Amino acid sequence: MSVSGKTAVVTGSNSGIGLGVARELAKAGANVVLNSFTDRDEDHAIAAEIAKEFGVEARYIKADMSKGDECRALIEQAGTCDILVNNAGIQFVSPIDEFPQDKWDAIIAINMNSAYHTTAAALPKMRAAGWGRVINIASAHGLTASPYKSAYVAAKHGVVGMTKVVALETAEEPITANAICPGYVLTPLVEAQIPDTMKEYNMSRDEVIKNVMLARQPSKEFATVEQLGGTVAFLASDAAAQITGTTISVDGGWTAL
Ligand code: NAD
Repeated sequence: MSVSGKTAVVTGSNSGIGLGVARELAKAGANVVLNSFTDRDEDHAIAAEIAKEFGVEARYIKADMSKGDECRALIEQAGTCDILVNNAGIQFVSPIDEFPQDKWDAIIAINMNSAYHTTAAALPKMRAAGWGRVINIASAHGLTASPYKSAYVAAKHGVVGMTKVVALETAEEPITANAICPGYVLTPLVEAQIPDTMKEYNMSRDEVIKNVMLARQPSKEFATVEQLGGTVAFLASDAAAQITGTTISVDGGWTAL
């Protein structure tokens, strides 16, 4: 695995998919920088556990991905950034004519603009190192749409578009840029959507999971954070050196429908 000894920065990685990605990259031998906007003992403890479990260097750096300066400061503080995984994300569900402006702005800032800032800061480091991987965690909602998720769908389509541009701008260099498009993965972000969706559709929790969430996921199974981490590790490997500017769906067949 070519990731051994490389340094990976994973935004939004104190829970969910980001944590799963950091763990799989550490398992493959990468040093990892974890991140979120909090600075709690438990955040640093997650990094310490990863370091101990996989025998790699692991650090936690606080930076708020809704703020451009802090996105750039994260990459500077990381020092090295061979693998950049833009994963931080939030969700809010509302009809567009009632969509609160502050929620719209936060989703666009965290889910899309942060990837611009971190990529801009990381590319010079990748060029200096002569190797790099930009891996954006987009979504099936980067390729398709659902009602009530206007800001999220706009941000994720934006990330997919930005990924293609970064791939073209680095095409002749040993750097790749790709987006992963997960379907539903049972993480705190998805858990948080269940109560609102239950109200919206007047359904029980089980009905929401089966009939709303997994209705569009033909496998009828959630994807796992380990599967997402494994896909990131693959995109970071030598086998994926000619894969650039594309999306990989990990969605149980959602986008085949
Ligand atoms: P999650 O809520 O478990 O994790 C989100 C992470 O982002 C957390 O670590 C959180 O602390 C961090 N974060 C939130 N706001 C931040 C900020 N301002 N600055 C820094 N970090 C911040 O959710 P998740 O499901 O693991 O989502 C991770 C990514 O995967 C998101 O981009 C999400 O859109 C995407 N995704 C998730 C699913 C799914 O079904 N769970 C599907 C498709 C795409």
